[in-house]
Amino acid sequence: MTRRTTPLERVRNIGIMAHIDAGKTTVTEQILLRTGKIHRAGKVHDGDATMDWLPEEQERGITITSAATTCSWRVEEKDHQVNIIDTPGHVDFTMEVERSLRVLDGAVGVFCAVGGVEPQSETVWRQADRYDVPRMAFINKMDRAGANMNAVLEQMRERLGCEPVALQIPYGAEDRFKGAIDLLERVTFTWDEDEQCVRSEGVPESLSDEVETLRAALVERLVEGDEALLEAYLNGQEPSISALHARVRAMTVQAEIVPVLCGSALKGVGIEPLLDAITRYLPSPLDAGDVVAAGGEETRTPSEDAPFSALAFKMMADEYVGQLTFLRIYSGVLEKKDRVLDTATGQLERVGRLLRMHANTREEIERAFAGEIVAVVGLKQVGTGDTLSDPEAPIVLESIDRPTPVVWSSVEPETRAAQTRLGEALRKLAMEDPSFQVRVDDETGQTLLGGMGELHLEVLCQRLVREYKVQLRVGRPEVAYRETIAQEVEHRFRFKRMTGGPGMFAEVDLLIRPGEPGTGVLFDETVRGGSIPREYIPAVEKGVREAAEEGVLAGYPVTDVEVILRDGLYHENDSSEMAFKICASIAFRDASTQASPKLLEPIMAVEVTTPEEYIGDVIGDLSARRGRILGNEQRGPARIIKARVPLAQMFGYASALRGFSQGRASYSMQLEGHEIAPDAVADEVRRLRMNSDA
Ligand code: GDP
Repeated sequence: MTRRTTPLERVRNIGIMAHIDAGKTTVTEQILLRTGKIHRAGKVHDGDATMDWLPEEQERGITITSAATTCSWRVEEKDHQVNIIDTPGHVDFTMEVERSLRVLDGAVGVFCAVGGVEPQSETVWRQADRYDVPRMAFINKMDRAGANMNAVLEQMRERLGCEPVALQIPYGAEDRFKGAIDLLERVTFTWDEDEQCVRSEGVPESLSDEVETLRAALVERLVEGDEALLEAYLNGQEPSISALHARVRAMTVQAEIVPVLCGSALKGVGIEPLLDAITRYLPSPLDAGDVVAAGGEETRTPSEDAPFSALAFKMMADEYVGQLTFLRIYSGVLEKKDRVLDTATGQLERVGRLLRMHANTREEIERAFAGEIVAVVGLKQVGTGDTLSDPEAPIVLESIDRPTPVVWSSVEPETRAAQTRLGEALRKLAMEDPSFQVRVDDETGQTLLGGMGELHLEVLCQRLVREYKVQLRVGRPEVAYRETIAQEVEHRFRFKRMTGGPGMFAEVDLLIRPGEPGTGVLFDETVRGGSIPREYIPAVEKGVREAAEEGVLAGYPVTDVEVILRDGLYHENDSSEMAFKICASIAFRDASTQASPKLLEPIMAVEVTTPEEYIGDVIGDLSARRGRILGNEQRGPARIIKARVPLAQMFGYASALRGFSQGRASYSMQLEGHEIAPDAVADEVRRLRMNSDA
């Protein structure tokens, strides 16, 4: 069997994460340009960047998909394979962020040297914290007026709670930004008129004192945790450059420090040293270690000798080859024509073709190895988050968290042809993006799409129209409310029907009371003395759960309720599972009616960034949206206003905010949780719901 060409320790699976506009696309483009995979950087504002695939992304200037691109970089005479997994910065697509974090081993945070650490960067950074992803940072846009690397380092310390360690200082600033000085190696990097990197030994005279001071502090920080190096250092022995690199690497992989570099992607400045640092310091799949089965103890070692295992983390419809399934291979080898087991569906699937995706070419490969990221053609039923494994050695890896939709919209095909295509199109879209759901309204027969936010649904609908040619009328987005109760109630109910033939008899005594937030419906029983035979208890639970699917207030699913079956009665001949199920449903509904049913609404954590002069307008407007202002702080020239606002009030917020701030304010939001809505709101929601049902 052919062995791999790139040893595992030279593979990097990385993500580039950033707040929108910090320059993630430009940095990625530059990386691909300088690793020789593309010959010209697409200019983002022309809507022509190579990594951005879908027309929606180009129009909006945001990156939604999580395609993986492979490039290679030579450092210290060795070729490394760098797989870049695109990581979106928009919070409406947190699922996309989660799934890319799940499969990457390290990440580069891109920050704007002027804007610094913005709210959305904080969100994404915290998500990466949860996955223990080792990171480094690139301070971009050093050429802009007001660029300040030190200020960004400070913000990283304060807002991200990490320890940024600058490995470079900028050479020149703002419109006279020329390059970067490497502290460890005392090397000056500049870029000539053709944007070619020029490496000069030594540092400019004017900066030499500063470099020496910073370098001494840096070296001290690096040797501190290594006894041998520290001792030698204290004896006046300067550590070698390779020993220092090894320390940066070890401390980065342990997530002790975040190495920081600077540059200007727009001018092509800073990219080569960034690539050097990515390959030198970020972890390889070997550093990431064994992958563990979901909830189990079984593991797979990242080695081609272990049985094959992989996680499907992304589907994409491709106009040339059909459906592409992106896999992160954790162990073993995958070959063209292999049969693999999808442990989620239990189906065997055949690998058609194997592709390594480059910026604008795709390379057909015969086999792929542990640690790599590849695209597969030919997998039929595999969905996002499924584990694929060797049929002889099945394993289920941790899947990708699947959030519950908070917004629903109805979609109505405009033509009969569209109607027929809709089902198939939705099925394909759902395999790609598990964070949206499809449901058919029992009463109206309408198809409903549920998603993570208004923008998420908008993008989905646009894709249905453009990619799948399904002409649609899209309804107004509606909030996914839930219901709960505020009081404890005990209720006894007898269900009896005697109409010739076999009768129906069941009696239950239920106690229902408010549960902890996020616990759903908990069912328990304390039946003693056989007042209800054991075999009927599951039917009672089923009846309760079915009734809880539609609350008594406005028909939304009931959550955070504890239900205890305490007692009951049965009849030798007339009791049945059916009788107990119906009885429990009615009893639960009656009990809920008495237990002050409440509407739960999704509450968003909103952060608005605005110039000083619009503060009054922003706060006034948020308050009118039933928002609770939590505080406001100065960030550079801008103000950040934090608030909690019901999702229902946030529809259309993007355009409202743009309107009264002349497009100068921006916002981010994310689901914080559910809260009991005021009665007036609940009444209104109920009224609308009843009318729409009528
Ligand atoms: P993304 O939203 O994070 O992907 O950011 P983009 O790469 O799309 O960049 C946002 C805007 O900033 C674009 O207009 C870029 O041309 C611009 N930009 C990116 N990098 C730099 C830079 O280094 N300096 C300056 N001045 N502008 C930049």
